[in-house]
Amino acid sequence: MDKSFSIICKITHNFKNMSQPLFSQDILFYQRFLKANGFYKSTLDGLWGKKTNAADIAFTQQTQAIAKQYGLFDARSEANIATLAPKVQIMARKFLGVMIINKKDVRIISGTRTYAQQDALYKQGRYGNTSPIITNARGGHSNHNFGLAWDIGLFVNGKYITDDAPYIKLAKFAMPAIPMLEWGGNWQSFKDYPHYQHQAIDDTVAGTRALFETGAMYV
Ligand SMILES: [Zn+2]
Repeated sequence: MDKSFSIICKITHNFKNMSQPLFSQDILFYQRFLKANGFYKSTLDGLWGKKTNAADIAFTQQTQAIAKQYGLFDARSEANIATLAPKVQIMARKFLGVMIINKKDVRIISGTRTYAQQDALYKQGRYGNTSPIITNARGGHSNHNFGLAWDIGLFVNGKYITDDAPYIKLAKFAMPAIPMLEWGGNWQSFKDYPHYQHQAIDDTVAGTRALFETGAMYV
């Protein structure tokens, strides 16, 4: 058996368990994602019917085709890339390619979150919850809620790096190499050095949310 075939089988196996469990608790969210990315043409009714199933299969097939064309990375990155919009998947794979050229062990440690998952994160540190606050964004208020954004982890000798400076250096490799790439380190109010995203059609999160929720093209 030729080697490329066995790699594709392996990712097919992974993807079978990928998008559906991530989005299965929020079918309406997944329908919006599928519609806004051109895979679903029918009503946003929150019900998993034949058309949603066909759209899920089409999305999975495109995800596999992109992986085949742009290359495979570590398992954690792969799992997170599979949750991104197809245009963003291509960008994330190019990004990891740039990191490899520069001999950096960078993995994508976070991808898309449903609105419900974002709301759960928002509750941490609020409403009597004593954990530290980890986000200021409620569901639908983060670019992670539309398949636009990913967060990276830098590893040196297998150890996860948390200092800002090495992440700033990574952006210097990535930003000139990839058009339409946006970096959280360029934000004015809150610097988010491990955060990257694909430029959206609308400049604002509110505008992106309005497009996404009606199933209109947003990236
Ligand atoms: Zn982020």
